[in-house]
Formats: sequence, structure tokens, C-alpha cells
Amino acid sequence: MSTTTTPAYPSTQLLIDGRWCDAADGRTLAVVNPASGAEIGRVAHAGRADLDRALAAAQEGFATWRAMPAVERAKLMRAAAALIKERADAIAATMTQEQGKPLAEAKGETLAAADIIEWFADESRRVYGRIVPPRNMATQQLVLKEPVGPVAAFTPWNFPINQVVRKVCAALSTGCSILVKAPEETPASPAALLKAFVDAGVPAGVIGLVYGDPAEISSYLIPHPIIRKITFTGSTPVGKQLAAMAGQHMKRLTMELGGHAPVIVAEDADVALAVKAAGAAKFRNAGQVCIAPTRFLVHNSIRAEFEKALVAHSQAHKVGDGLAQGTTLGPLANPRRLTAMRQFTDDAIEQGAKVLAGGERIGSTGNFFAPTVLSDVPLTAKVFNDEPFGPMAAVRGFDTLDEAIAESNRLPFGLAGYAYSGSVKTIHALMQRIEVGMLFVNQPALPTPEMPFGGVKDSGYGSEGGPEALEAYLVTKAVSVFCG
Ligand code: NAD
Repeated sequence: MSTTTTPAYPSTQLLIDGRWCDAADGRTLAVVNPASGAEIGRVAHAGRADLDRALAAAQEGFATWRAMPAVERAKLMRAAAALIKERADAIAATMTQEQGKPLAEAKGETLAAADIIEWFADESRRVYGRIVPPRNMATQQLVLKEPVGPVAAFTPWNFPINQVVRKVCAALSTGCSILVKAPEETPASPAALLKAFVDAGVPAGVIGLVYGDPAEISSYLIPHPIIRKITFTGSTPVGKQLAAMAGQHMKRLTMELGGHAPVIVAEDADVALAVKAAGAAKFRNAGQVCIAPTRFLVHNSIRAEFEKALVAHSQAHKVGDGLAQGTTLGPLANPRRLTAMRQFTDDAIEQGAKVLAGGERIGSTGNFFAPTVLSDVPLTAKVFNDEPFGPMAAVRGFDTLDEAIAESNRLPFGLAGYAYSGSVKTIHALMQRIEVGMLFVNQPALPTPEMPFGGVKDSGYGSEGGPEALEAYLVTKAVSVFCG
């Protein structure tokens, strides 16, 4: 592993009513670089007084923003995208220091945010209602689409910008204001994202940003009468708690939760393509990706060839500080993931799995874990049941497609799935029978803003891409006018 000189890392304040500020009581939390374990900055910890100010600002911001023509809102969003492109190098360096991912991935995520903003800015000009033919010709029947109101968003640490930008864009493009509770462990890059909107001229109160105690903040914001919609990305257990709370208060919801993506490699698959594509998706962001491939189901006739190639792919990674030249796999974002990787490995070995590559922590500083390939993993192993959320590929063989489909659908999750096959008939069967919100066939995961992004079953509901993403922030008003 190599290291490099570290650029300056900013401490992070709250964004309330268009101003950056410390918490009213001055509290802060430490931010740690996962590559070194060293504290690199502080983030403001909001208390009740800060939340009350942020809520009042969100209410005012909503009144201002919904009254602005969509074309004007779109202009401000585009200006924010331009600033993000200009600042991409600095934002990416900040993200790598707090989250660990290689600089190229951090820059890719930052530039993707600009692309997402531009797509939503365009789409905001197409929030149409409709006119319905009346039964009485003296009547007009209109269906209006209106913004749901101020939104509370809760986002995790794995994609500090991407998870925020999709929510902010859906809110802004429909005329909603949004108060974001971003991750305390990776606070500065989402703050840099939102700073671009503020600097572009988005009015005060339209976007707010707080950090603090996640449970304390969500249990205050979700029931609060000012908040009309909740959007959350994170683990299924937390998502279920928040959804139950939102249900009690009849709040609209988007839930993007955990997955456990099956990867079916059929007997007629192009093995080299499958390894390259699924391997890239597997080890990106050290596997801390909700749509990462996790359960590799490989036809027994090609399993040996596939495993050999996947091991070579995993061992070609250069593991190190994300800022160092050439690093392709950074540290895990926090020590919790390191502990989890060890537990997954120990449990799999105990149950009879073979470790073909990795399986161990690297070094004793930072949260580095070797890219890992496990084979002959029994279905009872923890790694085949709980989302690994780390650089770990677990492989099993299968003989019939029915068997692979049954295993794919066995778990309560249904976020992403992957399939590799040269047969149209096989692909057709998988498209129809795999229970997921997103299926990637003969390619890695390439989510785009124009395609829906979301899951089924315990992976949540609602979508963060495509026109569905906007629909989730709109309410419908049916208006019938007698004009006679
Ligand atoms: P966690 O379940 O405690 O937290 C997940 C996220 O939810 C964090 O951002 C956290 O701040 C937030 N959170 C937790 N409790 C909350 C509450 N009461 N109110 C509002 N927000 C709350 O666990 P973790 O250790 O951070 O991550 C572990 C697991 O979470 C991973 O293994 C993975 O399955 C899942 N996860 C999923 C995603 C995703 O993109 N879907 C992202 C991060 C983590």
C-alpha cells in the first residue's frame, strides 16, 4: 500500500435558512479518515433549536420555490451543476478523505451528480397535469400535479453525494423544499454539493442540511407537521422503523434499502465478460454498494473457469489510500464494516466454504480488507443471507436455471440482479422471473438518471430515477369547474 500527501479537509457546518452555521449549542462530532484512522475534521451536531430553525426555513423556502416558474428553477439547478463540474477535483479529494473510495471513483460520483442535476432540471419542465373530457360540456376537468411540500431526507455514507443529489433533485424539480440529514461520517462532500446550489442562487430555506444523532433527528422530523414527505436510503431494519413512524403520521415515503444481488452466470455466458462486468460492479467502492453483486450463482459446467478468472480479477486490484496514485480499492468506510467482513469470512469457513482469494484484513492501520472470493458457500452461510456490503464475492454452482432462479428469489430482498447469458430465451426467462427492481444483463451496473432506481420486497419502495422519481414528490388534485 502506498500513501500520499493529504489535501486540506474542511470542517462542516449546518445549512439553515441559506446560511452556514455552527450548532446553537456548539456541539461537534469527529470525522475520521478510514485510510489512516486519524481525525481529520469536525462536523456540527444539530440540536432541537437548530432543527426548529431549519423546519421554519423549509416551510418558507417551500412557499418561495413552488411559486417560481419551472423554467427559472431549472436555470438555477443547471447553474449548480456547472459549479459542481468546476469544483469536481476539490470535492472528490474531500470525499476520498472522509469515505475512502479511490479518487477516480470520487470524481466519477461528483461528475455524475452534475449529470443527474441536469437531467432533473430538464425533467422539471415536463411536470404535466392533464385535461379530462367532461361528461357535461359546460364543465372543465383538470388534473393538477402539485409539490407534496417540505421533504426530510436521510442519506448514508457509501455514496455521500449520489445519495443526496437524487433526493435533492427530485424535490427541487417538483417545487418542494428539502431538509437533508446527511451522514455524520462523510459530511463534507455532501455539504460541498449543497454549497453549489446555494452559490448558484437557490433561495434560502429551499435546501437545508443538518447532522447529529440520526435517531433523534428522524424521530423529530418525521412526525413534524411541516414535513410532508420522507425519503431514506440505508439498511432495511432502519428503513422499516422509519416507515412505521411515517405511517403513523401518514407521510409520503420513498425507501431505498439494502439488497443482496444475485448474479446468474448461465452455461452459455461469455465468462470473460461476466467476470469483467460483475467483478467491476462487485469491487467498486470496496463493495459498499446497495446494488453490488453478492450471490454469484454459476453454472457448474463453467464454474472452475469463472472462479479462476474472478480470483485473478480480484487480485489485480491495488489496495491502498484512495488518494494514492493507482489505487483501485480503498479502505472500508468505517470499522463496523471491517468487523462484519471478518464475521462473514469466519462463518463461511466454519460452514465449509473455501477461501479462493483474500479473506483477511490488510495491515493494522485503516480499514483495509483484501478483495475476497469464497467458493462452495453453503446456503446457510451468513454471507448468503445478510448483505455483505464489502469486497466479498460468494460463489455457488447450479445445474438448472430453475434452481438459480429459485435461489435468486429466496431472500426477502429485491434490489438489483445480474444475468450473463448468450441466449435470448434464458434472458427472457430471467427478465420475467427474477424478483428485483433493477436487472443488469451482460453488463455491469450502470444506473442513469433517466432509468428508475429502486427495489421491491424488503429492499424498499419508490424510485429515485426516471419520471417515477418526480412522481413520488407530487400530489394529485382533481379540479372540476362548472363554467356554464
Ligand atoms: P445502520 O443501519 O445503523 O445505518 C445505515 C444508515 O442509516 C446510516 O447512514 C445511518 O446514519 C442511518 N440511520 C441509522 N439509524 C437511523 C435512524 N434512526 N434515523 C435516521 N437515520 C438512521 O448501519 P451502518 O453500519 O451505517 O450500515 C450497515 C448496513 O446498512 C450495511 O451493511 C448496508 O446493508 C446498509 N446500508 C445500505 C446503504 C444503501 O445504499 N442502501 C447505504 C449504507 C448502508
